[in-house]
Amino acid sequence: MLKTHCCGELRASNEGESVALAGWVHRRRDHGGLIFIDLRDHDGLVQAVFNPKENADAYTVADSCRGEYVLLAKGTVARRPKGTENAQLPTGDIEVRVSEAQVLNPSKTPPFYITEETDVEELLRLKYRYLDLRRETMHQNIVTRHRVVKFIRDFLSERGFTEIETPLLTAPTPEGARDYLVPSRVHAGRFYALPQSPQQFKQLLMVAGFERYFQIARCLRDEDLRADRQPEHTQLDLEMSFISDEEDIFRLAEELYYSMAQTLFPQRPVQAHPFPRMTYEESVRRYGSDKPDVRYGLELSDFSEALRDTEFTVFRQVLASGGMVRGLCVPGGATFSRKQTDDLTTLVQQYGAKGLVSMAFLGEGSIDSLAEEDIRSPVAKYFSVEQAKEMARAAGANRGDMLLMVADRLSVANRALDGLRRELADRLELYDPNVLAFAFVNEYPLLEWSDTEERWMSVHHPFTSPYLEDLEFIESDPGRVRSHAYDLVCNGWELFSGSIRIHRRDVQERMFTALGISPEEAKRKFGHMLEAFEYGAPPHAGIGAGIDRLLAVLTGQPDIREVIAFPKTKSAGEPLTGAPTTVSQQQLDELHIAVTGVEEEVERTGGQ
Ligand code: ASP
Repeated sequence: MLKTHCCGELRASNEGESVALAGWVHRRRDHGGLIFIDLRDHDGLVQAVFNPKENADAYTVADSCRGEYVLLAKGTVARRPKGTENAQLPTGDIEVRVSEAQVLNPSKTPPFYITEETDVEELLRLKYRYLDLRRETMHQNIVTRHRVVKFIRDFLSERGFTEIETPLLTAPTPEGARDYLVPSRVHAGRFYALPQSPQQFKQLLMVAGFERYFQIARCLRDEDLRADRQPEHTQLDLEMSFISDEEDIFRLAEELYYSMAQTLFPQRPVQAHPFPRMTYEESVRRYGSDKPDVRYGLELSDFSEALRDTEFTVFRQVLASGGMVRGLCVPGGATFSRKQTDDLTTLVQQYGAKGLVSMAFLGEGSIDSLAEEDIRSPVAKYFSVEQAKEMARAAGANRGDMLLMVADRLSVANRALDGLRRELADRLELYDPNVLAFAFVNEYPLLEWSDTEERWMSVHHPFTSPYLEDLEFIESDPGRVRSHAYDLVCNGWELFSGSIRIHRRDVQERMFTALGISPEEAKRKFGHMLEAFEYGAPPHAGIGAGIDRLLAVLTGQPDIREVIAFPKTKSAGEPLTGAPTTVSQQQLDELHIAVTGVEEEVERTGGQ
């Protein structure tokens, strides 16, 4: 190797050693006579000193260097002069006095600073991702990702899991997104689908007798992108046979995530261990969401009962049409200004709610002694003091607090209040950002009605086992059937989903029928699964656990793009390579593909 040491590894104990270092010029300072270069490599930074009196040639090389030049420097490790040590830097006690230097490759001035965490337009960062990844935080994120994945591999290997790869070119497997398709050259007019997940293959591996499988798998889903979604994401895909119930999966997952946090992120305390468990119904009732952030309270309350005789027309109409009045109590919220509550109203409207009703309780003493003048609300006149007291009690509010309420369809009210809850917790700094609050959510409904598709859809996916005791309702009252699906959440992010699977042909067939899939279609699309279940399929269960999301939570990044080496933009483009690109007519012909409607598309998007 050109180098004997990594830049970041030198310490005072190396004093006097001759070393060869190679890396990038991170910073260069000319101190009239002496040149200091902070040399950076994968491992860290070290200060190299060039003294013209000691070595004129090396000094001339240093003098020609600019930021991001690739430099080879040989010299001796020396203690820094007293008073010039840098306690911020692991190598801050020493410097390397350079006797020989060579530029291995110069560099153009980068389009943004590598040395500072300045705000740079994301498109530019993605176009020059190889430079963006040189920046310390990004570099660390990727290294941390490697450590997490290695931890997972070691942990599971020690527990008897076998890592097995499954195909990328395959038949569609439904996970609720559109498929990415790959045209077949050999079979004209036919397509492979890139897997939305290895779901079917991992179940087939259980039928094949592997009992404990995992894979760090790429999943490809063509769907609208958000902060926690990319066209391709990586998941820990895992499956186990002969589990007796969900607890077997929970215990394994708990040990994996807990020991990972303890080992790799000791500075991040885990809020509760064992992780709390709650049903889907409880999670939505208490937090308005099935991915609750349980680092703080601000739980939701239901005011429909307290408001049964309300005179307030807006509330009365919503209640009469089957909606709900739900809300939460903001501790100390009576001090909120008009502007603050107006901002929160705008926020809930972004989630589809029509408005937000506030009611603050002023004065001293208990809520029982509340008087008319202690109630501050734009709609105070519609409520009796008794009703206000009942509402305060329903939400556990005291004087000095404020209720915020949304009246709407249950799903809209919950969505808006979930958003409101997260915003308030941020504003009021109700949690320690270092804490990791894991929780399991289970007992999801098996099916939900889709107004757009006009049919029942899987809440998880079609291979999830219903509660067998609910199976009798799958035809008559599908919405009532509970499933053995479960999620792990952390700090309000969904970290994994999974389920106990169906392993009997008859149950799987009833499930397909409930989804509106005819026996012919089921046979055509999933005949291999139905058939496999007839050859001694063991009971099995598993999870698909997002690696990108896990990394975003653990490194405190707001978007999974920050923990992926080469992510795509929000419009699924890759600015670095220009993908997706057009292809030659010859390639299209070979693939039996005719492209239509493209001119309009180019016009509409400006070719982007
Ligand atoms: N296949 C599921 C997913 O990708 C996970 C699972 O059920 O194991 O979300």
